[in-house]
Amino acid sequence: QAVAQQSVMADLNALISSAPSSRLQHATQHAQHRQDSGTLLSPLDGVPIVVKDNYCTSWATTTCASKMLRHYTPTYDATLVTRLEAAGAIIIGKSNMDEFGMGSGGTFSTFGPIKNLYRSGKPYALSDPTYRCGALEEGEWVVSGGSSGGSAVAVASGQAYCGLGSDTGGSVRNPASLCGLVGLKPSYGALPRTGLISLVNSMDCPGVLAKTCEDCAMMMAVLLGRDKADSTSQGSSAIPWAREEDEDRFSSADRPGTLQDLVSGLVVGVPSEYHCAGLHPQILQAWTRLADKLHDAGAKVVPVSLPHTPYAPSCYTVLNTCEVASNFTRYTGFQYGLRKSCKHSMEAQYALSRAEGLSQVVKDRVLAGNYFLLADNKENYQQQAMKVRRLIQQDFDCVFNNGVDVLLTPTTLFPATSPSLFSVRNSSELTYLQDLCTSPANLAGLPALSVPVGFTNAAQNSTSSQRYNDGQHYELRDQYR
Ligand code: GLN
Repeated sequence: QAVAQQSVMADLNALISSAPSSRLQHATQHAQHRQDSGTLLSPLDGVPIVVKDNYCTSWATTTCASKMLRHYTPTYDATLVTRLEAAGAIIIGKSNMDEFGMGSGGTFSTFGPIKNLYRSGKPYALSDPTYRCGALEEGEWVVSGGSSGGSAVAVASGQAYCGLGSDTGGSVRNPASLCGLVGLKPSYGALPRTGLISLVNSMDCPGVLAKTCEDCAMMMAVLLGRDKADSTSQGSSAIPWAREEDEDRFSSADRPGTLQDLVSGLVVGVPSEYHCAGLHPQILQAWTRLADKLHDAGAKVVPVSLPHTPYAPSCYTVLNTCEVASNFTRYTGFQYGLRKSCKHSMEAQYALSRAEGLSQVVKDRVLAGNYFLLADNKENYQQQAMKVRRLIQQDFDCVFNNGVDVLLTPTTLFPATSPSLFSVRNSSELTYLQDLCTSPANLAGLPALSVPVGFTNAAQNSTSSQRYNDGQHYELRDQYR
């Protein structure tokens, strides 16, 4: 059974590397000792955590799932890695991802695609004695979501308790939603980026994947705090969140209580622009059901408008590729990264190293970014996009200044699908479509949380969903328009 389970884990392909066993043993023994002597460092002491492979670790390669960095071991640890270890957490390994964080399927990794633990709404293998031990063929599995798909699958399959991901346009929330997890992208700057390999500096945001909101809160309590090495980091502190079994640690005032207690009087905005072409009926149904549930529990659910949302994908694309073009000049093969030898010139050597080390997805973005930044184009593209970004931010300001407490939107436009849809040929189209609901928060620097709402099999059978099968099935109900 154990060997079979190991082969399933390997087939899921959630991890790129495991922590060295001596390091794991050492950390486990120390945590055990603290447990025995009642001197636990934090609620995360001794808890297995997985870290996305774009966070620097001095004890394991940090590859960003790219051939370019395949053999790169940094000289220092990312601030968040240091904080986790200082809290006693045991980092079990580095998780698979879309190369450099570019993608939303978990399919663009030089180490092969990440497979979702679930297929057709059922957990894949593990507790089922009849599961197959052989590798799943394409057509038998669905994507994990990305780019932090490895962290999501590692947590969903029980290899780790919580995971660290990074979210530039939705990369924590998207795989969390496809793998049935909670995914938190905090406000820009709430968590330091020191040692997180840059994709888009103005939007990159470390984030947390866990099975429950309480676990996310527990991770945040350890991770939050200003870092002098990151000038954009803020000194936010955690709000305690009680777990039922931890009653002694929290006063009763901090305990969340019932859904009614939590949401009564809360103003929940439902943005009509998120109801767009391409939204899958299942997702629409889950969204509408949840709005109803909040309404029934005493929240005031109101339709709102964020008029610049349709421009978010193009705005995100231009700004993303411009920053990528600038960031990726560092991959020359000289200080680090793949180096091809070439006797002609330094430029030729750079070119050869990049041609070999970077995938087509990465090259396309670098090329696009450089095009948008050309002297003749900059005003029309990059500077326009900066203005649109400001308008998107102002949309949110306007809604929140008018009494809305929280916005309710889908995370992705469609559920986990076959990997064939996430081929390089389809990459830009699908990636940007999947990011429609998530990237506005990155453009505006806002916090966003994806929570599972359990719409799959249960939802299809519930009486409530029948109500949306009566001709209005694919429409957002009028009251939320
Ligand atoms: N899908 C987005 C992109 O490809 C998200 C990336 C991310 O959040 N790291 O850019």
